Amino acid sequence: MDVGATRVDLSRLPLWAAGVLALLCGAILAFSGWGEWTTRNAEVRNAEIDLANLARSLTQHVEDTFELADSLLRGVVAALETDDGKSGAIARLQTILKARKATLGRIRGVFAYDGNGDWLATTEDVTLSNYNNADRDYFAHHRTSADRSLLIGHPVQSKSGGQWVITLSRRWNHSDGSFGGVVLATVDVAYFAGFYRQFDVGQQGTISLMSRDGSVLADNSEPDSRTLGHPVLEVIPYHPASGTLHFRRPGEMSDRIGFYQHAQRYPFLILATRTEADVLAEWKRDAFVRFTVQVSLLALVVAIGMFLVKQLLRRQQLSAALAAKEENFRLLAEGSSDIVTRIDLDECIGYVSPSTTRVLGWHPSQLLGKRAISGVNPLDRPQLQEILDQLRKGAADEARATYRMRRRDKSEIWVEATIRATRQPNGELDGFVAVTRDVTQQKTLQGRLETLAIEDGLTGLANRRRFDERLMEEWGRAYREKTSLALLMIDIDHFKAFNDTYGHPAGDECLHTVASVLADEAQRSSDLVARYGGEEFALLLPNTDAAGCARLGERIRRALHEAGIVHAHNPPGIVTASIGGAVCRPGFERSAGPASLIESADRALYAAKDGGRDRLVMAGEVVDLPSSKAPATVPA
Ligand code: GH3
Ligand code: MG
Ligand code: MG
Repeated sequence: MDVGATRVDLSRLPLWAAGVLALLCGAILAFSGWGEWTTRNAEVRNAEIDLANLARSLTQHVEDTFELADSLLRGVVAALETDDGKSGAIARLQTILKARKATLGRIRGVFAYDGNGDWLATTEDVTLSNYNNADRDYFAHHRTSADRSLLIGHPVQSKSGGQWVITLSRRWNHSDGSFGGVVLATVDVAYFAGFYRQFDVGQQGTISLMSRDGSVLADNSEPDSRTLGHPVLEVIPYHPASGTLHFRRPGEMSDRIGFYQHAQRYPFLILATRTEADVLAEWKRDAFVRFTVQVSLLALVVAIGMFLVKQLLRRQQLSAALAAKEENFRLLAEGSSDIVTRIDLDECIGYVSPSTTRVLGWHPSQLLGKRAISGVNPLDRPQLQEILDQLRKGAADEARATYRMRRRDKSEIWVEATIRATRQPNGELDGFVAVTRDVTQQKTLQGRLETLAIEDGLTGLANRRRFDERLMEEWGRAYREKTSLALLMIDIDHFKAFNDTYGHPAGDECLHTVASVLADEAQRSSDLVARYGGEEFALLLPNTDAAGCARLGERIRRALHEAGIVHAHNPPGIVTASIGGAVCRPGFERSAGPASLIESADRALYAAKDGGRDRLVMAGEVVDLPSSKAPATVPA
């Protein structure tokens, strides 16, 4: 596996995640936008269909109305032309029209005029001679045009009733074919207006009945001279016979959707319109709610996504930092001459640096998974285990220990380790790191120094310093335990003469031999043999009474004799020594301390010298002094 490539991919993960998130949000918005647009178009299409259906059925309605009116007109025209306007026939027509008044329905009235525009007969209850309609447009049209088809005229105000009416008229001829007059049927504009207002085309919607020339015959507003008879603003084609229109009227804020339908049998059409604002109002409201909800949800998704991407980034930075840290740790560990060990929670080795090969003779791979304290000298293990337990408990963060370890070649070395507990960011212990250093050389050197500090170089016995220390200790012990403490002071006789005779090196040799004799005689482990100074030695004998002390002193004196070191200028011919002994019991005596013991032994030693040398004198003993011949007492 290519580790580098994987790392590159991982580092771009947040970018990818953010990109995918943005793309997803964009796609969702685009998809829902497309959905909304489709819904909007469907609303418009539905409105178009509704308007088409309405226009078609209203066209049918008007055709039916006009047909009814036209059939009446045809009947009246036929009656007038059959009788050619004779007065008897007119009277009969008037009676018939009157009788039909009740059955006219939506037809307002029917009228018959003669060639001068005078009223011949009508369904209205009026005095016929009061009116003349020669001034009307339709009358002028029929008089001048031989065309006998139905004429749909512009709305006019009725002369008999004053209301707005739509006029439907036909010409009737005399039997010779000349103009006989006009037959007229009227329909109330208000009738259509009222009927159209029953249909819901919205607040701004319009339904208009129009003549083919474009002028309005009736619409769904109140009949009004400002609109009636005037053309609508739109240009409405004649072909095709029906169709949808989209337009905007001057001064209006919204486009209109319209549908027009031409009638087949009569020259009129119906135009139904609605404003787009009206049609789309509900959709707009719903779409706004849907859009708001969707944008809020997307904002939430984006917020969550961004949070996650941020977390991802942080995690990545943390792991990069951790990797760098690990790398640094490894670099330090592997470059160090010390052994760096990572100890896991189960106290087994998780990592050990290569210097272990040099220090312990084991390759790191041979130590992995082994218990960390397995190579430690069994005597030192408890100390180390205690340290690990303390670190684990959190009593300390770091501890040092010096202990022995076995190398692969079975030899033993001293090491000094600094052990540290390592914790996770949440404070939980995750193991230990130990830095271990070989301190065998230092340890040996230290031992040597310690020996030098307390040992006499010539004889190998304890030196004066060591003697003073031990004397203090033993004095204290004897005091506490109420035991006796004895001291022998030994001084070689006429040693100056020995030096003078045999030379200084021989003197040294002699001192060495005497020291061996003394060391051999002091058999108890608690006994201390020391070189007190020059050719003077001291034997400290804890827990020893006067008799025991005297016995040992005597044994030493004899042993020197047995050693038989030739000394020509000493009367016995061999090296001898004078010995002074003293005993004290600190727990029972009110003496001045350790110094008094030395003083007593010293005095006894001088007494031995004075007594002729090569002898033991115990403090408090009566001795013969050769010079005075009078016995003397050595003060205790
Ligand atoms: P006495 O019987 O009264 O003790 O006589 P002495 O000659 O032994 O006593 P003195 O104190 O006069 O002489 C001690 C001599 O010990 C002097 C010195 O040369 C010798 N001496 C002391 N230390 C050493 C040493 O380390 N090596 C050698 N070779 N001689 C030493
Ligand atoms: Mg001396
Ligand atoms: Mg001497």
